[in-house]
Amino acid sequence: MAQSAKAVLAREVGKPVVVESIEVADPKHAEVTVRISACGVCHSDLSATNGTIPYPLPLVLGHEGAGVVIAVGDGVDNFAVGDHVVSSFVSMCGHCHYCQTGRPQLCVQSLKSLFTLPDGTVRTRDSAGKDLNVFCGCGVMAEFATVHVGNVVKIDQSMPLDRAALIACGVMTGVGAAVNTAKVQAGSIAVVFGCGGVGLNAIQGCAIAGAGMIVAVDTSDEKLELAKQFGATHGYNVTGQSNAAKDLYKLTAGGADYAFDCVGVGKISEMAWGVLRRGGTAVIVGISNPKDQITLNAQQVATTEKTLTGSYYGSARPQLDFPRLIGLYRSGRLKLDELITRTYSIEEAPRAFADLNEGKQGRGVIIFDED
Ligand SMILES: [Zn+2]
Ligand SMILES: [Zn+2]
Repeated sequence: MAQSAKAVLAREVGKPVVVESIEVADPKHAEVTVRISACGVCHSDLSATNGTIPYPLPLVLGHEGAGVVIAVGDGVDNFAVGDHVVSSFVSMCGHCHYCQTGRPQLCVQSLKSLFTLPDGTVRTRDSAGKDLNVFCGCGVMAEFATVHVGNVVKIDQSMPLDRAALIACGVMTGVGAAVNTAKVQAGSIAVVFGCGGVGLNAIQGCAIAGAGMIVAVDTSDEKLELAKQFGATHGYNVTGQSNAAKDLYKLTAGGADYAFDCVGVGKISEMAWGVLRRGGTAVIVGISNPKDQITLNAQQVATTEKTLTGSYYGSARPQLDFPRLIGLYRSGRLKLDELITRTYSIEEAPRAFADLNEGKQGRGVIIFDED
């Protein structure tokens, strides 16, 4: 039976999000319908509303959700009604070149489901009967979502769903950048630019991997203070500093082994590259504006043997990594409770986006009614 659901939509570029009642159709082949319990409000959602990531609108937002399966389509044998799931904003087919070589975050199916389900259609309509696109095949900032099975991962039912939701984007992206992409080594030195939702997780990923020195860099003292709770050993406020790269090079006594740009700005990526010691690795995690460029000294690329790499979705292998992250949470090594700094009802979604836009610290999460 099709579900009526309240959902958070981007209707017009540069305008606040709106909360509308939409219709969510039944699952088709290889799809499931999920009753969403919680959904984090991520910077990429904000980027979809202000045009930084140019999405075709109207769009049902949300890609950091968790909930309970309430219906399965035909051909679904690995999910059942009652299963608890976390969304994956990268759709994984399981058999393309990338899935087969252990890099499902680059799956070709994900490119077909940037704003629809992988078959190019949607299960979401507004009250006028018009199709609504869905963020990265998810659109989980809604009471219900019908998604492809390649966009959900089953989790243990005893894991609280509001905590589990965070794993879907911010935690996987940040922790994964450190653990999967950079493969941070014990005792190493890391510098993390940007202490928002993803940056805090890159910091705790470095801490989990055993980095000896973790320098958090931001423009807000409050965020730098919060970063220390997640494992940063040092904080550096770049506001008004004209020689940040030099300062950081000095602070790290000759450069960092790893540097992460968790903001996604070309100039910051260049700074991340600049604070590395020879042989170090800079990782671009934040998604920049498509026109942004990076300039590097070509000779130094050769002579310093530094690496510049991207990290998409924390190089996630969601089926493997989500349960591992839950295991780390249970053993007290992954902080999720501390990450949720604000919760909102779905009606308060415009406020949640305004708070994110104003740069409030930590993660805001929309909690859905349980009726
Ligand atoms: Zn996200
Ligand atoms: Zn694939």
